[in-house]
This record gives sequence, C-alpha cells and structure tokens, in this order.
Amino acid sequence: MRSRPNLTLPGDITIDRVIIRGGRAPGVVDALGTVFRAGEVVLSAGSYGSPAILMRSGVGPAEDLRALGIDVEADLPVGRRLQNHPFFHSFALTPDLQTLTSAFAAQPWLASSEAQAGELGRDIVATHLPDGSFSPTGGAIVLAAAVTRPESHGSARLASRDPYYAPVINNNCPATARDRGRILEAVRLVRRLAGTAPLTGALAAELVPGDAVRTDDELEAAIAAGIATYGHPTSTAPTGGPSDEWAVSRTSRPPSRTASPWPPATGRRYGP
Ligand SMILES: Cc1cc2nc3c(=O)[nH]c(=O)nc-3n(C[C@H](O)[C@H](O)[C@H](O)COP(=O)(O)OP(=O)(O)OC[C@H]3O[C@@H](n4cnc5c(N)ncnc54)[C@H](O)[C@@H]3O)c2cc1C
Repeated sequence: MRSRPNLTLPGDITIDRVIIRGGRAPGVVDALGTVFRAGEVVLSAGSYGSPAILMRSGVGPAEDLRALGIDVEADLPVGRRLQNHPFFHSFALTPDLQTLTSAFAAQPWLASSEAQAGELGRDIVATHLPDGSFSPTGGAIVLAAAVTRPESHGSARLASRDPYYAPVINNNCPATARDRGRILEAVRLVRRLAGTAPLTGALAAELVPGDAVRTDDELEAAIAAGIATYGHPTSTAPTGGPSDEWAVSRTSRPPSRTASPWPPATGRRYGP
C-alpha cells in the first residue's frame, strides 16, 4: 500500500483545521500553516482528534466556538455525543496462583434485569494482570463489569484554539439512573460469580472496592469514585440524516437551536 505511486503519507504533522469554502472542503491546514489542497478531505483523527479539528474549522457548537474567537461555519453538536464503555472491579489471586493459563478467560455478554428484548447491554471480562505488584498476594485478576450500551453522553470540547492543545474530555458516565443501576447490578453479579466455584478457589480477597463495601449506597459511591472506561470513545462527530438531532453532517442550523435547549428535552440527561 505504502509503495503506491499515487499515495503520499507525510508523517509528524498536526492538522489544525479543514479549509471550508462555500460548504466544500478543498484542503487542510497544519499547525505550522502549511496548506494541503485536495479534491476531497476524509477526516479520520479519532474520537477526540476529529471533533477538535472540526471545531477549529468552525464546525461545532456556536457558543463554544465564539468564546474561543473561532468564526462559525456551521452550528452543530460536534463533540457533544461522546460515548464510552464504563467498567469497574478488581480481585486478588491466591498466593499459590500467580498466573492464569489463559490470560483472557471469559467474556459473557449479559442482559440487565430491565433490558429490552435482545439487548445485551453489559459484559464481564476476567483478565489476569501481568503486574500484580499492587496486590498483597503478588497476583491479581481483574473482573471488569461494563455497561456496553450506555445511554449516558459526555463531551469533547476545545480548551484552546491552539492545535497543540488536547480537547477537554468528560466521559460523564454513568450519568443516568439506568446506567448507574445497570453497572451496580453488574458489579453485584461479579461478586456472586467470585463467590462461586471455580473462582472461589482462585480468589484470596476482593481488592476493590473491598469487603467493607456492602450496601447499594456504599457500592454506588465506590463505583462513582473508581469508574474507568475501556478506552472506546465514539460518536463525537456522528453522521446521520436531517432528522437526527446529533448528526454533524448537516450544513444548516436546526430550527430548534435558538428557541430551546438542544437537543430537545426528552427526559434524559445528555452531555454536560
Ligand atoms: C486501551 C485500549 C484498548 C482497546 N481495545 C480494543 C479492542 O480490543 N478491540 C477493538 O476493536 N478496539 C479496541 N480499542 C478501540 C480502538 O483502538 C479504536 O476504536 C480505534 O483505534 C479507533 O480508530 P480511529 O482510526 O478512529 O482512531 P485512532 O486510532 O485514535 O486514530 C486517530 C489518529 O489520528 C491522529 N490525530 C489526531 N488528531 C490529529 C491531528 N490534529 N493531526 C494529525 N493527526 C491527528 C492520532 O494521532 C491517531 O493516529 C481499544 C482502545 C484502547 C485505548
């Protein structure tokens, strides 16, 4: 692929913005001001890089762009529908079991108690951690309970007009009562599995959140304090048709934008 005569792959370039002329994108500009002209621009800078480039190009929430002195090309919800997979948990291994024969043991996909038909919205992953130095037994296995179809939305916003500044990321997850309930239920299920053979023979104690954490309130607080993500950010610049409130592929301003909060209230809490 790299040897194709019609392909040039320049490296070590930070793209500042897409040039937009009359609703078209005839090129890009890098952070040093070099202009790259093109018949077509395909933006593929990932879930954080792509919205940042779009916003520096003037495509994004108008209020945020104006606050940074960026001329607005299109007032669209770029960076406002960030989704990620929240996950939680960890256990210690017994002293005589420092390694697992399979590093990746199992990954059941599960429906929560209030799942809709066919919705497998959670998973549990059992993985041996190569570095168990933080564990009192010297070994650790993580039993991660994750919500794989979260409804919570976070955001990726520009902190600066400077292309060398990373966007500010807020996963905001789990933000809804349903997502909180699903992860709580999954963590409780992990505890039940951990207390069932053959895992009982392999686990010395619960490291996180620990046996002192018992009630739902305590567990919810521990989850809120220790929640992590799988690093699967997505949906910060979703494409979609004119009826999709989140789509950033439209060029015109949605009619509801100035009159009411955007997206229209649905009873759910969206991004911050
Ligand atoms: C720890 C971890 C584990 C994962 N495990 C899995 C897995 O098991 N299975 C799976 O399917 N997925 C996994 N993923 C997710 C997967 O890595 C991503 O979904 C995938 O890499 C996204 O590809 P992408 O091309 O959209 O973006 P990226 O891979 O993020 O690529 C974007 C590129 O654009 C560049 N870029 C950004 N901004 C600019 C700029 N301004 N100028 C120039 N270049 C720029 C970045 O440097 C990067 O090279 C994992 C992710 C993480 C973090």
